[in-house]
This record gives sequence, structure tokens and C-alpha cells, in this order.
Amino acid sequence: MPITTDPKLRSFVDYDEKSHFPIQNLPFGIFTEKGQTRPGVRIGDMVLDLAVLEKRGFFPSRPKLFNTSTLNPFLAMGRSTWRAVRATVSRLLREDVGELRDNSELRGKALIPVQNITLQMPVAIGDYTDFYSSREHAVNVGTMFRGKENALMPNWRHLPVAYHGRSSSVVLSGTPIRRPRGQVILENQENPVFTASRLLDFELEVGFFIGPGSELGHPVPVDAAAEHIFGMVLVNDWSARDIQKWEYQPLGPFTAKNFATSISPWVVPLDALEPFLCKAPEQVPRPLPYLQAKNARTYDINLEVYLQNSRISSSNFKYLYWNIAQQLAHHTITGCNVNPGDLMASGTISAPGEGGCGSMLELSWNGSKPIRLHNGEERKFLRDGDTVTLTGWCQGAGFRVGFGEVTGTILPALD
Ligand code: MN
Repeated sequence: MPITTDPKLRSFVDYDEKSHFPIQNLPFGIFTEKGQTRPGVRIGDMVLDLAVLEKRGFFPSRPKLFNTSTLNPFLAMGRSTWRAVRATVSRLLREDVGELRDNSELRGKALIPVQNITLQMPVAIGDYTDFYSSREHAVNVGTMFRGKENALMPNWRHLPVAYHGRSSSVVLSGTPIRRPRGQVILENQENPVFTASRLLDFELEVGFFIGPGSELGHPVPVDAAAEHIFGMVLVNDWSARDIQKWEYQPLGPFTAKNFATSISPWVVPLDALEPFLCKAPEQVPRPLPYLQAKNARTYDINLEVYLQNSRISSSNFKYLYWNIAQQLAHHTITGCNVNPGDLMASGTISAPGEGGCGSMLELSWNGSKPIRLHNGEERKFLRDGDTVTLTGWCQGAGFRVGFGEVTGTILPALD
């Protein structure tokens, strides 16, 4: 295990054991302070300015990697650079290393309180793909629409189903979400009407960012996938179920999902998640050889959904049937190339049993069982003014490696 994830590491920056951003995490983001936008690493409630450190010569191998307003150049460099930068940042933040701790001039410039910054999109996203990799979610939705016997389509256990999404409308946490309008079939009607969506929903997902790209015509082998994946964020794939139901056949979702997808601002490196690797779910039938990893593993990441401050769901990333290596291997098996900064999301993650559903569609069982919030209100789907917050973290011994949160509030539809 790399030294940067050692549970015994302590930083001279203060935080408590529930902080999502201890020295074992060190996620990367993009922030603006005093009119300048640049990359930073989060530690407790502070941001370490990578552009300042680069100017002072702390990252000698690649000048100008952090003199930018996106993480894309850094993502493109690959694992050895990611690890070298992470090791330097980890060392500088240690409580037993004086280089930054005892240099008050540098500390004043390089460590900035989060309340003084504005967060930006961390990555310029070229392409966005959304998978459908939670068996529990697929079974729930399939049961609702096709009945228990036909819940999973015949292809589902053989390949990670996905659709090509829309990167232009991927937005940062905190961006308000306008209720979309579109074509909907009302009850007992044959023809559609044009209306504001009445069945607006969230989807609890986790996404990963591509690091070094692949060449057109050259699939990424399942066992090499990790070389191409930098890290992960929380994703809320907002969905309009009434629009989706009418439009989705035969090519899958289109306008029901292209109006907004929210992501959390801090990208947690796979290196920080390594101590939380766990066994991936057993796959029956055995997938075809190009989807068989030598060591099939996934990550133990606790996930929660809050609606108006009421926790309405608890799930875990480890339940995902198809892991991220299989997703990338399948995505590229035809020779489709990927580029630094591409986003691939898991699909709605639902847990087995009650209380772990990753969408309102499942929580309210297609609107037939309203859920109750702390304040006594009920919901079947989202109302105007509702705020949905997703959060996630890995639990270490006395610390959390977390993702922070991704949040968004629903605005009324246009007139
Ligand atoms: Mn989705």
C-alpha cells in the first residue's frame, strides 16, 4: 500500500474524524480566488494551491501542468505523474514535515480557506457515457415496467448496458436544475401533450474520469483499465420519467436525461480509494473473456441521498454488478477511443433490500407509495424548490476518505 494512504498519517492542517478530506484523501479540483482559476488539492477545510507550488519548483518534472483552469493536462499525464504529485502534496502536508508547516510566507500563499474560494468544473468533459450497472436498480425498474419474469433484459448479465450521454449539460454541484418540458403521454391518452415534466427524478451514481486516452481502433484490455482511470466523483443523473417512458424505445433515453447531470467538485484519485478495494459481486453466467479481469475488485463506498435534509436512501458502490474496468473494456472493445477528461457514470446504484433505492422512481415504486420526509411532507417525485444532495465516503480507521457532496435545487419549468 502506498505511503500516501497510511492510516497513521497526520497533517498539520486541522480536521475532525468525520471530515471527508483527511491527508489520506487529497482530491483534486479547480477553484477561483481573487479572479484567478487554477487547480488545487483539498485538505480539511483548506485548499492547497498547486499553481503556487509549481511556481516554487515543487513539481520539477513537468512545468506548467497546473498553470491551467482544468485538470485535463494533469489527467493526460498518467499514473506515474499522478503518483509523484500526490506523494509531494502528501509530504508537504504531513505534521512531521516542516517544509510547508514552518514556512509561514508560503503557507499564507498556498493554503487557502475554502470559504474564500469558488469551485469550478474540475474537468473539461469531452464525452459522457452513462451505464446501467446496478442489478438491483435494473431489476426494480424492469419489474415495474415489464413484470418480475422479464425484469432483466436477456443481454443484461452479458454486457454492461449504457447510453451515450451529453457532456454540454454536465454541471457543477450547486447549479440549480430547471424542470424540463417535453412530450408526455397522460393517463388513458393515446397522443402526447407538451408539458412540464411531472415525474422529475434524481439518480444516485458515481462516475470516473479518463486519464490517458486510448487510440482509435485499439480496445483497452480489462486488466489495463486502471491505467486509464484517474479518479471518481459523485454524479446525479437528473431524469424526467414521464418524458423517458414515451421516448425511450428503441434507442434509449434522450431528452429525458439531456437537460442536466450534476457532479461533485473534488475528484478522488483511485490511489486514495485503494485501501477500500473489495471483492466484486459474483457474475453468473461468467462474462465473455474480454470482460474477465484477473482480479475482479470494486470499492466499498457508502452512499446516501438527502431530500430536503431528510435521508431517504443509503446504498453502497460495492453492489454494482459491473465494475469500472469492465465498463471501460466494454466501451472500447469495438475500437472506440476515449480521451482525457471523458466521464463515465455507473448508472443508478440501488442496494439490495429496503431503503437503498437510488431514485424516486424506485423509492415511491413508480409513484404508488409516497415517501415521508422528516417535516411530515410526502413525495412521489421531486417538487419545485426541492433540494437533492448525494454524499459518499469510504470509512477508514478513525478517518473518512470522502467525496463531499453533489447538490441541486429544482427550479420551476419555463412558462
Ligand atoms: Mn443514469
